[in-house]
Amino acid sequence: MDLAVIVVGAGTAGLPCAITLAEHGVRVAVVEKADNVGGALHLSAGQMSAAGSRLQRSKGIEDSPEHHLADVMRLGHGKADPAIVRLAVEEAGASIDWLEELGFAFPDDQPIIYYGHDPYTRARTYWGSELGISVLNALQPRFDKLVADGKIDLRLGHRLTDLLVEDGRVVGVRAETATGTVELRAEAVVLTTGGYAANRAFFDRLHPGLHVLLGARETSQGEGLLAAQRIGAGFRGAEHHLSTVGGIETEPGQGTSNLWEALGNTNANNRIAREIYVNPAGRRYVAEDEPSQDVQERALQAEGGLMWFVFDEAAIDEDEPLVMGWSAEMLREQAAAGEGVWVAADVGELARRAGIDPTGLERTVSDWNAACAAGSDPLGRKALDHPIRTGPFYAVRSEGITVISFGGVTVDGELRVTRGDGGEPIPGLYAAGEVIGAGATMGDAFSSGMCVTPAISLGRLLGRRLAAQVGAAELLTA
Ligand SMILES: Cc1cc2nc3c(=O)[nH]c(=O)nc-3n(C[C@H](O)[C@H](O)[C@H](O)COP(=O)(O)OP(=O)(O)OC[C@H]3O[C@@H](n4cnc5c(N)ncnc54)[C@H](O)[C@@H]3O)c2cc1C
Repeated sequence: MDLAVIVVGAGTAGLPCAITLAEHGVRVAVVEKADNVGGALHLSAGQMSAAGSRLQRSKGIEDSPEHHLADVMRLGHGKADPAIVRLAVEEAGASIDWLEELGFAFPDDQPIIYYGHDPYTRARTYWGSELGISVLNALQPRFDKLVADGKIDLRLGHRLTDLLVEDGRVVGVRAETATGTVELRAEAVVLTTGGYAANRAFFDRLHPGLHVLLGARETSQGEGLLAAQRIGAGFRGAEHHLSTVGGIETEPGQGTSNLWEALGNTNANNRIAREIYVNPAGRRYVAEDEPSQDVQERALQAEGGLMWFVFDEAAIDEDEPLVMGWSAEMLREQAAAGEGVWVAADVGELARRAGIDPTGLERTVSDWNAACAAGSDPLGRKALDHPIRTGPFYAVRSEGITVISFGGVTVDGELRVTRGDGGEPIPGLYAAGEVIGAGATMGDAFSSGMCVTPAISLGRLLGRRLAAQVGAAELLTA
């Protein structure tokens, strides 16, 4: 007998979707290419944002989904999809309550106004002590129980290759396994396969020439998105891509980065820069103490995504490291090895070793020292107490980094995959999570928690709605 619903991808959106379907009595298969569940939660910071949670009310924080929506639209420069954001924020408070019921222990000080991205107007950001793993630890016991009880048919090691279409309707999936190809059929297929921010070839085709380190989990290859595109689904939002600043390449030449191992400590809300930021011409391009991450991110992207931190020996401070994850000793060791970090006795030689234009950098350092002496910087930097004078001199290469993908399949307000923005829905095919593109939930910038929370919320919402549609037929045939 056909399965009622197939959920492809057992990650942040897929787990809540499958749990909800199964708890409504719908037969559900979960097709997952990895040999474990959890998806991006294994790597994610797991920050969430929600208005109207019990936790917020218990702290007397006045907030509403309307305020949240307005903040997201403002922060994303009006580029997010308001219908999708509305769906997500209206469900978000209930998602936080649900996680609490599942055992998620929110730290006492939360929710807070978070300054890692440009801030919301209200305290509505939450995360667990184990970051994304805290979310997984809340979801997985419930999911595992439903699997053990035979309510969810979990197929690990099944990689979706194609969506099966008959008479214009999606009727199932084809998946590769270690032992061959299998086909599963269902009344509806939900794509929760995540983003493509680990797929270098796809990313570079979308953003030719942009320097960006990929920091997503290896599973984020965009396969679900590509399968949907092959049957006519639309694609939108990649033009909204914005990299995070401070990426440090993990292995030279690999183009990847793990932000938990090394990340430039660039947020002026945490640490005031003692270095200058320069582009390949050796020119400064932004006030390094600019508090808006959005301004910093846009400035770097306008430069093509590649920059160096340049500083002198006097700027190294063990207590406030330039690169989070590196001690001063590690920084000096890396510099001695000359891989991604360089050291030299004079600024011109430093530039030659690091690959920066030497004349440009010498001029910039001289201008910077003059600005510090004069107490006035043409770029408006206020922290002028670190001239670059005391050798040896250092340069750390940095690129934009992305842990998410902004492009995704087009969906309508019912989360039905469509044949383009505003196009006809493809019968039988639905999507939630990063496969619909972070641009849909955040526009062209970052709003805290607006990937993880929409993934959970829209996954649950789809589960409920599909249960209402297919559940009745399912109960009749059970
Ligand atoms: C380092 C890092 C930090 C982050 N921090 C935050 C944060 O603090 N807040 C926030 O909101 N967002 C954050 N994000 C983004 C957020 O974690 C993700 O957008 C979100 O978790 C994605 O959920 P998802 O369900 O769409 O995809 P995933 O959780 O990635 O799940 C997709 C699943 O589909 C499976 N899959 C993929 N292709 C196939 C296929 N062909 N066949 C079968 N299965 C397949 C994958 O193996 C995976 O298990 C971060 C991401 C990273 C990497």
